[in-house]
Amino acid sequence: MEELNCIVTNIMRVSPIMKIIRIKPVGWDLPEYKAGQFVALGLQGKAAKCADSTEEFSEQEPEKIIKRAYSIASSSTQEYVEFYVTLVHSGSLTPRLFELKIGDNLWMGKKAVGMFTIDEIDPEQNVVLVATGTGVAPYMSMLRSNALSRKGKVIVIHGAANSWDLGYSSELELLQSMFPNFTYYPTITNPEKEPSGWNGDVRFIQDIWDDKVVEKKWGFAPTSENTHVFLCGNPNMTDGMTEVLEKNGFKEHKRKEAGQIHVEKF
Ligand SMILES: Cc1cc2nc3c(=O)[nH]c(=O)nc-3n(C[C@H](O)[C@H](O)[C@H](O)COP(=O)(O)OP(=O)(O)OC[C@H]3O[C@@H](n4cnc5c(N)ncnc54)[C@H](O)[C@@H]3O)c2cc1C
Repeated sequence: MEELNCIVTNIMRVSPIMKIIRIKPVGWDLPEYKAGQFVALGLQGKAAKCADSTEEFSEQEPEKIIKRAYSIASSSTQEYVEFYVTLVHSGSLTPRLFELKIGDNLWMGKKAVGMFTIDEIDPEQNVVLVATGTGVAPYMSMLRSNALSRKGKVIVIHGAANSWDLGYSSELELLQSMFPNFTYYPTITNPEKEPSGWNGDVRFIQDIWDDKVVEKKWGFAPTSENTHVFLCGNPNMTDGMTEVLEKNGFKEHKRKEAGQIHVEKF
């Protein structure tokens, strides 16, 4: 049987349904990984579930480890790995992850995988990093690694329901104040719920792109010649943005055919 090979070292509650969880391996070394990659996390079926979970679609075997993919949010220079997780009330793994306390054990796959990385993109190129919800996780890994030493411009456009769901906003604001080539652009879809109002954008990311917000921030137009666009999170956003970008001459990056749109669907 596979053992629960990691220990929880830190938990930060971002909102009632979002947590940042840090874990460390127990008795083995973290794998080498590139910013933007993901690993599998898991817990046994018998693990306790959080109180606000709802019924699952299928019964879990008590000893079997339920495994799901999670993007790494920390830089590879840390001795811990950080994840940004949304609770899916009727899901199998997240209600169990949300019940974890500091010091509890869980399973992590020993190999990080994925092609959603920035390393091979010419540092002179500009980069647009678009996320919904926890889709910002791989960008945190990129920004905390070496993305901000690039010569080109970097912008994070982060969409969420409410301002309190914009995890990492303080860190992203700080990075914006420190790095002249970096812009943070949040947008929320439920402004009427904000207790103290919201001065930022409230549009869908597709409309923000169409309104040329990136061009206004950069002072020049992002084109398929000078910019790569990363899309991560909700498939409605990644599909919608891909369609908009393709109309603007960008092409999806594929293993056999290089392009400028890089997609990771959660
Ligand atoms: C590359 C990658 C990276 C990812 N990174 C992250 C990340 O950083 N953070 C993050 O929060 N998530 C991430 N995800 C999503 C994550 O892997 C899980 O899918 C998510 O956490 C839900 O897992 P779960 O086990 O709780 O839900 P699941 O059990 O997988 O259920 C998901 C949904 O499907 C429904 N469902 C389940 N079974 C059925 C059925 N038989 N019929 C109909 N509906 C059903 C459930 O009710 C629920 O709404 C990533 C996914 C991928 C592919």
